[in-house]
Amino acid sequence: MSATGKLKVVINKPACCGYGVCAEICPDVYKLDENGIVYVDDEIVPEGQEDLAREGADACPQNAIKLVSA
Ligand code: SF4
Repeated sequence: MSATGKLKVVINKPACCGYGVCAEICPDVYKLDENGIVYVDDEIVPEGQEDLAREGADACPQNAIKLVSA
């Protein structure tokens, strides 16, 4: 098993305003806490979720989510 191509989620929490767009687009990766602020259970994006995770990150009005190579 190689880690090639894996993506890691980096969240800038202070920038998150709780719009929830990310979680709407990619609920398997982006979760919202009781204040509506984004968090992830696992910062490594599960295989097959990469495109949706990218879409969710791109859709964030605050640019609060970055995806980097894991
Ligand atoms: S889309 Fe951006 S601002 Fe909205 S909850 Fe997700 S990270 Fe936060």
